[in-house]
Amino acid sequence: MKKADIILAAAVIILSIILIGARIFTRTEGGLAVVTEDGRETGRYSLQKDLEKDISGIYGTNRLVIKDRAAFVAEADCPDKLCVHQKKIRYNGEMIVCLPHRLVIRIESGDAPEVDDTAR
Ligand SMILES: [Zn+2]
Repeated sequence: MKKADIILAAAVIILSIILIGARIFTRTEGGLAVVTEDGRETGRYSLQKDLEKDISGIYGTNRLVIKDRAAFVAEADCPDKLCVHQKKIRYNGEMIVCLPHRLVIRIESGDAPEVDDTAR
């Protein structure tokens, strides 16, 4: 390997780190937490307002909490509690899934101004 190759490789790596960093930094915050039960949408909640709501479906109950413009499941009566342990979601496309309850909470852009969608 020639010295120039090493420099080139290093440059490519550094550039990609910068690009990944910029991407994370410019991620758009979502505007809505969209709740889907068994494939059907049952509610949309703005991330701008704090909320605590029990979502009772056929399979069980999950407590959805929206705080500081992020959504998470605070409590659930599902057997695995995986949804409770998932991290808070706030960016477009992020989701929390409760498999036993067939519940999906997904972040979507709401009224918040959208940044160029085609660039992603
Ligand atoms: Zn769960």
